Amino acid sequence: MDIKNLTIQEFHDALCAKEFSAREAMDESYKAIEENKDLNAFISFTKEDAIRSADTIDAMIARGENVPLLGGVPIALKDNMLLKGSVTTAGSKILSEYVASYDGWVAEKLKGLNATIVGKTNMDEFAMGSSNENSAFGPVKNPHNKTCVSGGSSGGSAVSVACGATLGSFGSDTGGSIRQPAALCGVVGMKPTYGAVSRFGIVAMASSLDQIGPFSKTVSDSEILFNAIRGKDLHDATTFEKKELRSKPIGEERKMVIGIPKEYFIEGIDPYVSKYISDAIERLKKLGFSFKEISLPHTKYALSTYYIIMPAEVSTNLARLDGVRYLGVSEIKKDVENLKDLYIKTRGVGFGKESRRRILLGTFVLSSGYYDAYYSKAQKVRTLISQDFAKAFDEVDVILTPTTPTPAFKLGEKTNDPLSMYLSDIFTIPVNLAGLPGISIPVKKFAVGSGELPVNFQLIGKHFHEADLFAVGKEYEKE
Ligand code: GLN
Repeated sequence: MDIKNLTIQEFHDALCAKEFSAREAMDESYKAIEENKDLNAFISFTKEDAIRSADTIDAMIARGENVPLLGGVPIALKDNMLLKGSVTTAGSKILSEYVASYDGWVAEKLKGLNATIVGKTNMDEFAMGSSNENSAFGPVKNPHNKTCVSGGSSGGSAVSVACGATLGSFGSDTGGSIRQPAALCGVVGMKPTYGAVSRFGIVAMASSLDQIGPFSKTVSDSEILFNAIRGKDLHDATTFEKKELRSKPIGEERKMVIGIPKEYFIEGIDPYVSKYISDAIERLKKLGFSFKEISLPHTKYALSTYYIIMPAEVSTNLARLDGVRYLGVSEIKKDVENLKDLYIKTRGVGFGKESRRRILLGTFVLSSGYYDAYYSKAQKVRTLISQDFAKAFDEVDVILTPTTPTPAFKLGEKTNDPLSMYLSDIFTIPVNLAGLPGISIPVKKFAVGSGELPVNFQLIGKHFHEADLFAVGKEYEKE
């Protein structure tokens, strides 16, 4: 049995035809994880939960009952999503002892469908990073070239799918953390519209930007996984009832007009990436899609805007980690003298370098005297960036860009140069600032072992028009 190459639909059909059991699929998944141990994609495993779900599905099949499409499908969760009874570290030492006391939204949805959640994936600490080198549990390696990074912050989730250990996985995307590692690992990664998926039970990074989404091998699988987790949740007031908006009726997808922002095809993009992106555009043209040049003039301010708003929210969200709540770090508790000492030692030892950098930056931009100069101004620019997109969408249905300016870079190459690291997200960050949906799709099948580094293109849609992204993506991957 080889579940690695199956789509979710194929897996489901084979499972229902009793070609294998859910328990066997689970074993296959753990075997693949073991074989790829050196990639360091997982932080912990949830085998008891996995066995319970798999056995439930096998019993249903034995009784001749219908099982849900995701029933028995091996899935991994980024380690910032709560799964009751399991450790949730968010990639940080400060949470290394924290056991979730409830299921977050995604875990609850997946449990309801009896998907097999096999474990929690490695990530940059508190989802801050683009290479997975900021994890307290070591970096994640790229399966296409083990001397390269996986991308981040959801590197473990991307690698889990890329190496065939799970059929799908979930990550979070605040500035590109699903789409960027998907691109570096050659899988599909999707960030929904802000408010399409509940953030309940996710360790918050920057709450006005965070959104959970799926990783998968194909666009069709991405759609299945997204549909399983979208919808209104009373725990998250920013969520909406399911809205499925389309620019063109079903059957007329190829009449969509694709916008190419001139500001995104700048010097500085790696020629290797440019070549593949041109190939993707050519292929879409052949399929009948028409293209139009558009302008997003405030793009050049997106990175600086993000690096004010995001750290401001990070500094506020991480203030709760004080050593009293969420357990803290027990090894330092032995010799603390008073409460203040506990705070200082917990936060000093528990947070890594990048988290400390962003907490300081965020505290500074929110401090009195600087608030208006930085934070208020950044919010105004954020509005201008959103307006650019709104204007562009008067002329086109979706927008196409590269996902990243370069393919996977070497481990250690950018760790001492935060600015060059931040540039990895130059094409993905504006999408979060505007709250739009985006999907990152491999230009072609980059098989692990072929030696080629993957390149993905990104499609950006109007609010709640995920269906447009899936439609273009499914046409693209048809051949
Ligand atoms: N890489 C970006 C950052 O470091 C985005 C992170 C994310 O989307 N969680 O902030």
